[in-house]
Amino acid sequence: MAKVIYPGTFDPVTNGHLDIIKRAVELFEEVIVTVAKNPSKTCLFTIEERVEMLKESLKGFNRVKVDWFDGLVVEHARNVGAVGIIRGLRAVSDFEYEFQMALMNRKLADDITTILLMPHARYTYLNSTIVRNLAQFNGKVSDFVPEIVDKKLKEKFGSK
Ligand code: ADP
Repeated sequence: MAKVIYPGTFDPVTNGHLDIIKRAVELFEEVIVTVAKNPSKTCLFTIEERVEMLKESLKGFNRVKVDWFDGLVVEHARNVGAVGIIRGLRAVSDFEYEFQMALMNRKLADDITTILLMPHARYTYLNSTIVRNLAQFNGKVSDFVPEIVDKKLKEKFGSK
């Protein structure tokens, strides 16, 4: 049975990410959620905070692990013995980027397959940027993120 990684920035993890993880666990023996250190992006949360929020949000999940990496996704997949890379596809707007990444990763590592999963329609408009922006201006984000993320966002922005 196969092991896969689900790489991303997760700044922070949302219910959309969790929906993808649930679907991946139904298909694969083990899912390793892998937080990218991603020097090209300026993140609100540190790598430690992003890992911690994921671990807390995934407490009830069997066969799911959380780790982080700094470098090429395909190399990390190889290092942990994964056969595939899970990515989420919300809308056509995600397609071009995900398609490019998938083909580039295949060029780098032909034995590692990208698997694109679609979330429930209710998560198709959800992303971490919207959540961060909402929270910054005191908007209610509890419908979109796990409890721990709601709490951490309030701490970050000093809201009640
Ligand atoms: P990245 O910066 O690598 O795109 P993200 O944390 O934004 O990292 O997303 C990781 C993966 O999860 C991406 O494939 C993204 O398309 C997918 N994703 C993000 N939000 C959602 C969502 N609401 N529903 C489904 N997939 C999502």
